[in-house]
Amino acid sequence: MVRPKRFRFIGRKPTIDYFKPRGIPLSELQEINLTHEEYEALRLKEIGNYDQKKAAELMNISQPTYSRILDSARKKVADAIINGKVLKIEGGVFKMVQRKFKCFQCQLEWEVAFGTGRPSKCPNCQSTNIHRVNVETSGFGHHGRGGMGKGKGSSQTGQGMGQDGQRRGQRFR
Ligand SMILES: [Zn+2]
Repeated sequence: MVRPKRFRFIGRKPTIDYFKPRGIPLSELQEINLTHEEYEALRLKEIGNYDQKKAAELMNISQPTYSRILDSARKKVADAIINGKVLKIEGGVFKMVQRKFKCFQCQLEWEVAFGTGRPSKCPNCQSTNIHRVNVETSGFGHHGRGGMGKGKGSSQTGQGMGQDGQRRGQRFR
């Protein structure tokens, strides 16, 4: 009767995972545990402004499941704030997934969490000749043939954009 566990995807872990009401000893406080999935559901919806369909897709779950997780997250956060409880973000069954980008100018590869915008340029050399590299996601972000090649003749980096990027780059120098 073991149900196979399907991993839920999360794009980012919290930088702060513990919130405590000021001036009350810990021993007198109740603790609420927000799971990483609940944190992620909240983040995608309220900070990333994704609709439920997209957010569910990003987390590799169905919409009803997403909706249930989000609801639970909101209730817990409200409970902590309204009733003055400790909020701890911990646990869950999940897998970290991030978007990976590669710069064709300096070959740098870096990762960006889901729910944040697409980077416009390379953080290292400021080139706009960057491309998405797929990591272990559940099938969105299709790449055409040879997507990871050197970018030779890749039509996406056509002259118009390239020049614009260069001009902009110079202005900031
Ligand atoms: Zn670069």
